[in-house]
Amino acid sequence: MSSLPADFPSTLQDAIVYFGNPEKAFEAAVALRWPNGITCPRCGSKEHSFISTRKLWFCKGCKKQFTVKVGSIFEDSPLGMDKWMFATWLVSNCKNGVSSCEIARHLGITQKSAWFMDHRIRHAMHPDSFGNKLSGQIEADETYIGGKARNMHAEDRKRKITGTGGKDKTAVMGILERGGKVRTKIVDNTKKKTLQAEIREHVLAGSALFTDALKSYDGLDEFQHEVVDHAVEYVRGEVHTNGMENFWSLVKRGLNGTYVSVEPFHLSRYLDEQMFRYNNRKGLNDADRFVNVMRNASGKRLTWKELTGKTDQPSSALVAA
Ligand SMILES: [Zn+2]
Repeated sequence: MSSLPADFPSTLQDAIVYFGNPEKAFEAAVALRWPNGITCPRCGSKEHSFISTRKLWFCKGCKKQFTVKVGSIFEDSPLGMDKWMFATWLVSNCKNGVSSCEIARHLGITQKSAWFMDHRIRHAMHPDSFGNKLSGQIEADETYIGGKARNMHAEDRKRKITGTGGKDKTAVMGILERGGKVRTKIVDNTKKKTLQAEIREHVLAGSALFTDALKSYDGLDEFQHEVVDHAVEYVRGEVHTNGMENFWSLVKRGLNGTYVSVEPFHLSRYLDEQMFRYNNRKGLNDADRFVNVMRNASGKRLTWKELTGKTDQPSSALVAA
Protein backbone atom coordinates (compact mmCIF):
# COMPACT_ATOMS: atom_id res chain seq x y z
CA MET A 1 0.00 0.00 0.00
CA SER A 2 3.00 2.28 0.08
CA SER A 3 2.82 3.53 -3.49
CA LEU A 4 -0.05 4.47 -5.75
CA PRO A 5 -1.81 1.67 -7.65
CA ALA A 6 -0.45 1.03 -11.17
CA ASP A 7 -3.80 1.87 -12.76
CA PHE A 8 -4.12 5.20 -10.93
CA PRO A 9 -6.06 7.66 -13.15
CA SER A 10 -4.37 10.42 -15.14
CA THR A 11 -7.36 12.22 -16.67
CA LEU A 12 -10.69 13.45 -15.35
CA GLN A 13 -12.48 10.79 -17.38
CA ASP A 14 -10.33 8.02 -15.86
CA ALA A 15 -10.79 9.54 -12.41
CA ILE A 16 -14.59 9.45 -12.69
CA VAL A 17 -14.50 5.72 -13.45
CA TYR A 18 -11.76 4.94 -10.93
CA PHE A 19 -13.20 6.80 -7.95
CA GLY A 20 -16.66 5.58 -8.88
CA ASN A 21 -15.52 2.22 -7.53
CA PRO A 22 -15.66 2.58 -3.72
CA GLU A 23 -13.13 -0.25 -3.17
CA LYS A 24 -10.55 1.29 -5.48
CA ALA A 25 -11.25 4.73 -4.03
CA PHE A 26 -10.65 3.42 -0.53
CA GLU A 27 -7.38 1.72 -1.54
CA ALA A 28 -6.16 4.90 -3.21
CA ALA A 29 -7.15 7.00 -0.18
CA VAL A 30 -5.12 4.70 2.08
CA ALA A 31 -2.07 4.84 -0.23
CA LEU A 32 -2.31 8.64 -0.44
CA ARG A 33 -2.77 9.09 3.29
CA TRP A 34 0.05 6.77 4.37
CA PRO A 35 2.76 6.56 1.69
CA ASN A 36 5.09 5.01 4.28
CA GLY A 37 2.65 2.52 5.76
CA ILE A 38 -0.50 2.82 7.85
CA THR A 39 0.12 4.72 11.07
CA CYS A 40 -2.30 5.53 13.90
CA PRO A 41 -3.15 9.27 13.61
CA ARG A 42 -3.48 9.50 17.39
CA CYS A 43 -0.37 7.77 18.76
CA GLY A 44 1.74 7.04 15.68
CA SER A 45 1.78 3.29 16.26
CA LYS A 46 2.21 1.01 13.25
CA GLU A 47 0.72 -1.95 15.15
CA HIS A 48 -2.94 -2.39 14.30
CA SER A 49 -5.52 -4.79 13.01
CA PHE A 50 -7.85 -3.98 10.12
CA ILE A 51 -11.56 -4.57 10.43
CA SER A 52 -12.39 -4.86 6.73
CA THR A 53 -16.18 -4.95 7.08
CA ARG A 54 -16.13 -1.52 8.72
CA LYS A 55 -13.07 -0.14 6.93
CA LEU A 56 -11.37 0.80 10.18
CA TRP A 57 -8.30 -0.10 12.13
CA PHE A 58 -7.93 -1.00 15.77
CA CYS A 59 -4.69 0.48 17.10
CA LYS A 60 -2.69 -1.80 19.38
CA GLY A 61 -0.80 1.21 20.73
CA CYS A 62 -3.58 3.45 22.07
CA LYS A 63 -6.34 0.79 21.88
CA LYS A 64 -8.59 3.09 19.86
CA GLN A 65 -10.07 2.79 16.41
CA PHE A 66 -9.24 5.00 13.47
CA THR A 67 -10.37 5.39 9.87
CA VAL A 68 -8.66 6.78 6.79
CA LYS A 69 -10.44 10.08 7.51
CA VAL A 70 -9.50 10.63 11.16
CA GLY A 71 -7.14 13.57 11.66
CA SER A 72 -7.69 14.98 8.18
CA ILE A 73 -10.01 17.44 6.40
CA PHE A 74 -12.31 14.45 5.74
CA GLU A 75 -12.92 13.64 9.41
CA ASP A 76 -16.58 13.40 10.46
CA SER A 77 -17.86 13.49 6.89
CA PRO A 78 -20.44 10.83 6.06
CA LEU A 79 -19.48 11.12 2.39
CA GLY A 80 -17.29 8.32 1.07
CA MET A 81 -13.72 8.81 -0.12
CA ASP A 82 -15.00 8.15 -3.67
CA LYS A 83 -16.97 11.41 -3.57
CA TRP A 84 -14.23 13.28 -1.72
CA MET A 85 -11.53 12.31 -4.19
CA PHE A 86 -13.65 13.14 -7.21
CA ALA A 87 -14.36 16.60 -5.77
CA THR A 88 -10.69 17.06 -4.88
CA TRP A 89 -9.67 16.14 -8.43
CA LEU A 90 -12.01 18.82 -9.81
CA VAL A 91 -10.96 21.56 -7.39
CA SER A 92 -7.24 20.78 -7.86
CA ASN A 93 -7.37 21.05 -11.62
CA CYS A 94 -10.09 23.36 -12.92
CA LYS A 95 -8.30 26.57 -13.80
CA ASN A 96 -11.11 28.92 -12.91
CA GLY A 97 -12.29 26.92 -9.93
CA VAL A 98 -15.41 24.85 -9.49
CA SER A 99 -18.60 26.15 -7.95
CA SER A 100 -20.30 24.26 -5.17
CA CYS A 101 -23.33 24.00 -7.48
CA GLU A 102 -21.29 22.02 -10.00
CA ILE A 103 -19.89 19.73 -7.33
CA ALA A 104 -23.37 19.24 -5.88
CA ARG A 105 -24.73 18.30 -9.28
CA HIS A 106 -21.88 15.90 -10.11
CA LEU A 107 -22.04 14.13 -6.75
CA GLY A 108 -25.79 14.25 -6.17
CA ILE A 109 -25.47 16.05 -2.84
CA THR A 110 -26.90 19.31 -1.52
CA GLN A 111 -25.26 22.58 -2.52
CA LYS A 112 -24.59 23.35 1.13
CA SER A 113 -22.81 20.05 1.58
CA ALA A 114 -20.76 20.68 -1.57
CA TRP A 115 -19.89 24.18 -0.32
CA PHE A 116 -18.58 22.68 2.91
CA MET A 117 -16.52 20.13 0.93
CA ASP A 118 -15.16 22.85 -1.32
CA HIS A 119 -13.87 24.88 1.60
CA ARG A 120 -12.30 21.85 3.23
CA ILE A 121 -10.48 20.95 0.00
CA ARG A 122 -9.21 24.53 -0.24
CA HIS A 123 -8.06 24.24 3.35
CA ALA A 124 -5.82 21.37 2.21
CA MET A 125 -4.38 23.73 -0.44
CA HIS A 126 -3.18 26.12 2.23
CA PRO A 127 0.63 26.07 2.21
CA ASP A 128 2.04 24.68 5.45
CA SER A 129 4.88 27.14 5.14
CA PHE A 130 6.22 29.41 2.41
CA GLY A 131 9.80 28.24 2.86
CA ASN A 132 12.80 30.29 1.73
CA LYS A 133 12.57 33.91 0.71
CA LEU A 134 11.84 34.69 -2.92
CA SER A 135 14.74 36.00 -4.98
CA GLY A 136 15.76 37.02 -8.49
CA GLN A 137 13.21 39.27 -10.20
CA ILE A 138 10.31 40.05 -7.88
CA GLU A 139 7.01 41.80 -8.54
CA ALA A 140 5.10 43.17 -5.55
CA ASP A 141 1.61 44.58 -5.86
CA GLU A 142 -1.38 45.29 -3.66
CA THR A 143 -5.02 45.06 -4.64
CA TYR A 144 -8.50 45.38 -3.19
CA ILE A 145 -10.89 42.52 -3.55
CA GLY A 146 -14.59 43.14 -3.18
CA GLY A 147 -17.10 41.23 -1.20
CA LYS A 148 -20.24 41.99 0.66
CA ALA A 149 -19.85 42.22 4.41
CA ARG A 150 -22.94 40.29 5.35
CA ASN A 151 -22.49 36.90 7.02
CA MET A 152 -19.19 37.98 8.52
CA HIS A 153 -18.45 37.56 12.18
CA ALA A 154 -19.20 40.83 13.99
CA GLU A 155 -15.59 41.36 15.04
CA ASP A 156 -14.31 40.66 11.54
CA ARG A 157 -16.79 43.07 10.11
CA LYS A 158 -15.66 45.75 12.53
CA ARG A 159 -12.00 45.10 11.76
CA LYS A 160 -12.26 44.84 7.99
CA ILE A 161 -14.65 47.69 7.30
CA THR A 162 -12.21 50.42 8.19
CA GLY A 163 -9.31 52.04 6.41
CA THR A 164 -9.05 52.87 2.76
CA GLY A 165 -10.39 51.03 -0.24
CA GLY A 166 -14.10 51.22 0.43
CA LYS A 167 -16.07 49.39 3.00
CA ASP A 168 -16.73 46.23 1.05
CA LYS A 169 -13.13 45.74 0.00
CA THR A 170 -10.36 43.65 1.50
CA ALA A 171 -6.72 44.61 0.94
CA VAL A 172 -4.45 41.84 -0.33
CA MET A 173 -0.69 41.92 -0.83
CA GLY A 174 0.90 39.79 -3.53
CA ILE A 175 4.55 38.98 -4.18
CA LEU A 176 5.67 37.01 -7.23
CA GLU A 177 9.04 35.62 -8.24
CA ARG A 178 9.21 35.68 -12.03
CA GLY A 179 9.40 32.13 -13.33
CA GLY A 180 8.66 30.91 -9.81
CA LYS A 181 5.98 31.13 -7.18
CA VAL A 182 3.45 33.63 -5.93
CA ARG A 183 2.54 34.42 -2.32
CA THR A 184 -0.50 36.39 -1.16
CA LYS A 185 -1.64 37.68 2.17
CA ILE A 186 -4.70 39.56 3.38
CA VAL A 187 -3.48 42.75 5.03
CA ASP A 188 -5.19 45.27 7.32
CA ASN A 189 -4.27 48.23 5.11
CA THR A 190 -1.89 49.31 2.35
CA LYS A 191 0.22 51.62 4.47
CA LYS A 192 3.98 51.71 4.10
CA LYS A 193 4.68 49.87 7.35
CA THR A 194 2.32 47.01 6.44
CA LEU A 195 3.39 46.43 2.84
CA GLN A 196 7.10 46.84 3.46
CA ALA A 197 6.99 44.36 6.34
CA GLU A 198 5.55 41.77 3.93
CA ILE A 199 8.20 42.46 1.30
CA ARG A 200 11.03 42.21 3.83
CA GLU A 201 9.61 38.97 5.21
CA HIS A 202 9.27 37.29 1.82
CA VAL A 203 11.97 38.74 -0.43
CA LEU A 204 15.73 38.26 -0.19
CA ALA A 205 17.61 41.55 0.21
CA GLY A 206 19.43 42.55 -2.98
CA SER A 207 16.75 41.07 -5.28
CA ALA A 208 15.38 43.09 -8.19
CA LEU A 209 12.06 44.46 -6.96
CA PHE A 210 9.39 45.92 -9.25
CA THR A 211 6.38 47.82 -7.92
CA ASP A 212 4.00 50.53 -9.00
CA ALA A 213 4.40 54.12 -7.83
CA LEU A 214 2.39 53.78 -4.62
CA LYS A 215 4.08 55.85 -1.91
CA SER A 216 3.97 52.88 0.46
CA TYR A 217 6.84 51.35 -1.53
CA ASP A 218 9.18 54.32 -1.05
CA GLY A 219 12.39 53.53 0.78
CA LEU A 220 12.91 49.83 0.10
CA ASP A 221 16.60 50.55 -0.27
CA GLU A 222 17.96 47.09 0.46
CA PHE A 223 16.46 45.91 -2.85
CA GLN A 224 17.23 46.93 -6.42
CA HIS A 225 13.88 48.67 -6.44
CA GLU A 226 12.45 50.03 -9.67
CA VAL A 227 9.08 51.68 -10.02
CA VAL A 228 6.66 51.79 -12.93
CA ASP A 229 4.30 54.73 -12.66
CA HIS A 230 0.97 53.57 -14.07
CA ALA A 231 -0.06 57.18 -14.64
CA VAL A 232 2.66 57.29 -17.30
CA GLU A 233 3.26 53.74 -18.55
CA TYR A 234 2.66 50.09 -17.70
CA VAL A 235 5.89 48.55 -18.91
CA ARG A 236 9.41 49.90 -19.16
CA GLY A 237 11.64 47.04 -20.25
CA GLU A 238 11.76 44.60 -17.36
CA VAL A 239 10.13 47.08 -15.04
CA HIS A 240 6.48 46.08 -14.72
CA THR A 241 4.09 44.20 -12.46
CA ASN A 242 2.25 42.34 -15.22
CA GLY A 243 2.76 38.91 -13.63
CA MET A 244 1.09 40.02 -10.41
CA GLU A 245 -1.69 41.80 -12.30
CA ASN A 246 -2.39 38.65 -14.30
CA PHE A 247 -2.62 36.72 -11.06
CA TRP A 248 -5.08 39.26 -9.60
CA SER A 249 -7.25 39.02 -12.70
CA LEU A 250 -7.32 35.21 -12.33
CA VAL A 251 -8.44 35.62 -8.73
CA LYS A 252 -11.07 38.23 -9.57
CA ARG A 253 -12.37 36.32 -12.56
CA GLY A 254 -12.82 33.28 -10.31
CA LEU A 255 -14.55 35.32 -7.65
CA ASN A 256 -16.89 37.21 -9.94
CA GLY A 257 -17.74 34.34 -12.20
CA THR A 258 -17.46 30.88 -10.77
CA TYR A 259 -17.96 31.84 -7.17
CA VAL A 260 -20.97 34.05 -7.27
CA SER A 261 -20.55 35.81 -3.97
CA VAL A 262 -17.56 35.60 -1.69
CA GLU A 263 -17.53 36.95 1.78
CA PRO A 264 -14.25 38.56 2.86
CA PHE A 265 -14.29 36.06 5.72
CA HIS A 266 -13.66 33.27 3.20
CA LEU A 267 -11.32 35.15 0.90
CA SER A 268 -8.15 33.63 2.31
CA ARG A 269 -9.23 30.17 1.21
CA TYR A 270 -10.00 31.36 -2.33
CA LEU A 271 -6.56 32.91 -2.42
CA ASP A 272 -5.06 29.63 -1.19
CA GLU A 273 -6.80 27.84 -4.04
CA GLN A 274 -5.54 30.23 -6.72
CA MET A 275 -2.05 30.25 -5.25
CA PHE A 276 -1.97 26.47 -5.18
CA ARG A 277 -3.02 26.22 -8.81
CA TYR A 278 -0.53 28.88 -9.91
CA ASN A 279 2.34 27.40 -7.91
CA ASN A 280 1.63 23.88 -9.15
CA ARG A 281 1.14 24.79 -12.81
CA LYS A 282 4.56 23.92 -14.18
CA GLY A 283 5.86 20.42 -14.83
CA LEU A 284 2.87 18.77 -13.13
CA ASN A 285 -0.12 16.96 -14.57
CA ASP A 286 -3.65 16.69 -13.18
CA ALA A 287 -2.85 13.56 -11.18
CA ASP A 288 0.23 15.22 -9.60
CA ARG A 289 -1.83 18.23 -8.50
CA PHE A 290 -4.50 15.95 -7.07
CA VAL A 291 -1.90 13.91 -5.18
CA ASN A 292 -0.34 17.11 -3.78
CA VAL A 293 -3.68 18.21 -2.34
CA MET A 294 -4.48 14.76 -0.95
CA ARG A 295 -1.05 14.51 0.68
CA ASN A 296 -1.68 17.90 2.28
CA ALA A 297 -5.10 16.89 3.64
CA SER A 298 -3.85 15.15 6.78
CA GLY A 299 -3.10 16.83 10.07
CA LYS A 300 -5.61 19.61 9.45
CA ARG A 301 -9.32 20.11 9.90
CA LEU A 302 -11.94 22.71 9.15
CA THR A 303 -15.16 22.29 11.08
CA TRP A 304 -18.57 23.70 10.25
CA LYS A 305 -18.31 25.97 13.28
CA GLU A 306 -14.92 27.32 12.20
CA LEU A 307 -16.22 27.86 8.69
CA THR A 308 -19.53 29.54 9.50
CA GLY A 309 -19.22 30.63 13.12
CA LYS A 310 -22.40 28.68 13.75
CA THR A 311 -22.95 25.65 15.92
CA ASP A 312 -26.33 24.74 14.50
CA GLN A 313 -25.00 22.63 11.70
CA PRO A 314 -28.07 21.40 9.83
CA SER A 315 -27.97 17.72 8.99
CA SER A 316 -28.60 18.61 5.34
CA ALA A 317 -25.14 20.13 5.23
CA LEU A 318 -23.59 16.73 5.52
CA VAL A 319 -26.06 14.19 4.26
CA ALA A 320 -26.31 13.45 0.59
CA ALA A 321 -29.55 14.66 -0.94
ZN1 LIG B 1 -2.93 4.60 18.32
